[in-house]
Amino acid sequence: MAARPSVARTIASLRRALAPFRDAGQRIALVPTMGALHAGHLALVREAPRRARRVVVSIFVNPTQFAPHEDFGSYPRGFDADLAALRAAKADLVWAPAASVMYPEGFATRIEPQGAAKAGLEDKFRPHFFGGVATVVVKLFTQTAPDFALFGEKDYQQLCVVTQMAKDLDLPLKVIGVPTVREKDGLALSSRNVYLSPAERAVAPTLYRALKASAARIKQGEPIEMVLEEGLAEITRAGFAVDYLEARHATTLAPIASRKEGPIRLLVAAKIGKMRLIDNLGV
Ligand code: AMP
Repeated sequence: MAARPSVARTIASLRRALAPFRDAGQRIALVPTMGALHAGHLALVREAPRRARRVVVSIFVNPTQFAPHEDFGSYPRGFDADLAALRAAKADLVWAPAASVMYPEGFATRIEPQGAAKAGLEDKFRPHFFGGVATVVVKLFTQTAPDFALFGEKDYQQLCVVTQMAKDLDLPLKVIGVPTVREKDGLALSSRNVYLSPAERAVAPTLYRALKASAARIKQGEPIEMVLEEGLAEITRAGFAVDYLEARHATTLAPIASRKEGPIRLLVAAKIGKMRLIDNLGV
């Protein structure tokens, strides 16, 4: 038997690799990633076999979701380590196209998601982001035609956008959200965490602490606005410049004024030094 996971780099080789799975009537789960894999990604890969016989992991640092001033060039990459991790996690196939395969010359289509993609959260600070994500995710879906696609709750707005998009476009697959994997001190794992300085790393868990405390207080019935103001103050005191700390409806991401309008999700984004961290938590 060929070594797993096999790696496909062209549409033709992807189709060749998927054909035997389909011929055997095996269901396929797709885990889209940008590589630099950590335990958070691997939690998705390990969840996948509970849904489907075959697990496909895509590794593609998608240029269209980065703005020119963002970190596309310096985004962490490490294909060999990723492949070793995916071997250990028992993935069946890695789909790792070059940018010229994903976006050949003349490529001229872009999906512009609305709704949760215009909630005034990440989209406010990265206006190009969800258009790029939606476009590449639809392509990954049509390329691999999975039965299931797994996404992390870590990128909660993205999960909402992709779930709605799959529904709106009648894509024949189920989007599954997987809970955020954290360090012992609560910091959500992220490929970009390697760029935190020791001092930044030390205060980074403040975000999760503030989310947890805020969620507990809202659950106890304290007024949302007051709780969030105090959460904002705590995060700011720790040295962050806060982009947002908000309570939103857990599926539409619409603003929420009281607990009755829930289910509630708290979402935060904040900069420490040059690093921007995001996190979220259900109430
Ligand atoms: P990325 O490579 O950052 O685009 O992430 C690929 C997938 O892994 C996305 O669905 C992310 O939400 C998910 N992911 C990233 N970090 C975590 C984490 N700490 N826990 C769970 N899922 C994660």
